[in-house]
Amino acid sequence: MDFRDSPQEAEFRARLRDWLAENADRFPTSGDEYWARQGDWHQALYAAGFFGSSWPKEFGGHELPPVYDVIVDEELARAGAPPRPSLGYLVQGLGRHGGRELQQRFLPGMINGTERWCQGFSEPGAGSDLASLTTTATRDGDDYVVHGHKIWTSYSDVADWCLLLARTDPDVPRHKGISAFVIAMKQPGVEQRPLRMISGVTREFGQVRFDGARVPAAQLVGAPGDGWKLAMTVVGHEREPATLGYAARYAKLVRQLASRLDGPAPDDLAWAAVQTEMLRLHVRRRLSEQLDGVVHGPDGSLDKLLMTWVDQAVGHAALAVTGTGDPELLGSYFYSRAQSVMGGTSQIQKNIIASRILGLGV
Ligand SMILES: Cc1cc2nc3c(=O)[nH]c(=O)nc-3n(C[C@H](O)[C@H](O)[C@H](O)COP(=O)(O)OP(=O)(O)OC[C@H]3O[C@@H](n4cnc5c(N)ncnc54)[C@H](O)[C@@H]3O)c2cc1C
Repeated sequence: MDFRDSPQEAEFRARLRDWLAENADRFPTSGDEYWARQGDWHQALYAAGFFGSSWPKEFGGHELPPVYDVIVDEELARAGAPPRPSLGYLVQGLGRHGGRELQQRFLPGMINGTERWCQGFSEPGAGSDLASLTTTATRDGDDYVVHGHKIWTSYSDVADWCLLLARTDPDVPRHKGISAFVIAMKQPGVEQRPLRMISGVTREFGQVRFDGARVPAAQLVGAPGDGWKLAMTVVGHEREPATLGYAARYAKLVRQLASRLDGPAPDDLAWAAVQTEMLRLHVRRRLSEQLDGVVHGPDGSLDKLLMTWVDQAVGHAALAVTGTGDPELLGSYFYSRAQSVMGGTSQIQKNIIASRILGLGV
């Protein structure tokens, strides 16, 4: 493993650094202001050539190795810029399971940020046990008609499109009766309500009610009943190391906390520093394996668990250093609590590790 930049990587990093010096300050980094301007930030990064680095050229990406995504994350954190909008898991879901027409119609807008997306999987009664979802899509001529209730839907307030899971066949075993759709969010029969997070943010996610919303059958992703396969691809990629490029952000927060000390570092901060460095090296190792052609399976759950531990260690360090006096750092602590829930809870990751990696009978 050689962690130093190649000449091409160094040139890319330098170009990005120059661009950030001019542009990073223009965009808010947290709170509702961040969510309100996230689309502008996405489009600005894309237009400058620093978003979609590893995705296919055909759909507007740059087809570079995934290490370029990590360089982007490192430099954004270094410059104090907002994080890279995360939607790789949706690109993978549609890219792997959508037919050619759906890919050509939807991937470019998703990648360049001109069309906003959300992921409609979780429901009030179906989170960890996603296969129990009850939203239905019923065929009616050339369309399907959707009824149901989704919750914790990130970006639902601004989304143009939703990658939706709905039950199309109640009479087969439950995993087999689920289909995936690309459904328009801005239409009659779709109602979005914001949810307020403990950090005070109201723009990040909401709940969505579908009451007779329509989706053309041509926007079914794959065949009827293929929804579960798509869901597994999407959640698998939510847990992958390239999406885990947050290591740089944690390291920056640790440095920021260290600079506030006027005495010895509390244990929590020292622990967070060690954990952050461990995550950085782990992400690099995973990427290096990817470059060698190793395809990761259930070990994405190890990455997700590790990232959660580090995020929460840094959150605890923020609390130990500043107490509750700094609203932004307090927000980091609060947000770290969500990390063990979103994209599959820590308990579910442990179940996957136990059954699929360790071969234990869970
Ligand atoms: C910030 C954030 C963003 C999110 N964004 C989205 C999004 O964009 N789209 C979307 O569809 N969803 C989204 N989610 C929802 C997320 O996927 C779910 O919250 C998650 O899957 C857990 O489901 P749940 O909340 O229903 O909890 P539950 O499944 O009800 O779990 C409750 C508790 O029981 C435990 N538990 C459940 N089953 C088991 C088991 N078999 N073994 C051991 N313990 C178990 C869980 O670990 C947890 O501690 C988001 C969540 C958060 C926090």
